[in-house]
Amino acid sequence: MAPADRPVTVDGMTFSLRVTRKRVKNINVRLVGNELRVSAPPWVSRGELDQTIGVLARRLVRRERARKVNGVESALELARKVARRFPNRPEVAEARFSTQQMARWGSYSTRTRTIRLNAALRQMPSWVLEAVVAHELAHIDHPDHSPAFWALLRRVCPATDRARAFLAGVSWLGSSWNDLPPVERSLLAGVGGGE
Ligand SMILES: [Zn+2]
Repeated sequence: MAPADRPVTVDGMTFSLRVTRKRVKNINVRLVGNELRVSAPPWVSRGELDQTIGVLARRLVRRERARKVNGVESALELARKVARRFPNRPEVAEARFSTQQMARWGSYSTRTRTIRLNAALRQMPSWVLEAVVAHELAHIDHPDHSPAFWALLRRVCPATDRARAFLAGVSWLGSSWNDLPPVERSLLAGVGGGE
């Protein structure tokens, strides 16, 4: 039993670690409850093992999280409801929340007709989520952010500008949270939406 089986932290969650050395080809990681069970070939160094566990564990944890958030409410149902407001009734074959790092809040593939939504949106008010879906669907007719794009989007989703302001605030907070002094953090946590 390796003495160095210390807990592993992934995305702020802590997991216990159990490493077994055996005659396997590759390093394998399984998530069982709160435990990461790792099997590794004897010749892999501890440094390499730690690094690989980090990568594989993050992938596992995010996949598990995505499975959970996608199970609660159908993203597809919501996307199709929004699609029906468009004059051209765009087709949505699949919609899912993604825990992969995304540069934007959502994306739509015209090839697979799939909408991908940042899983963080699930914690936000549904009108914000709907606005993101509408934004992606409006790009089917207008790949740019031209005046025609905004005109269409505001017609099918009147909350567009409010949602953009909401998400700009969320982005700002997300990127500056770690740098905020504790006092400002607790001040922000205490405001509670009042003006
Ligand atoms: Zn856009």
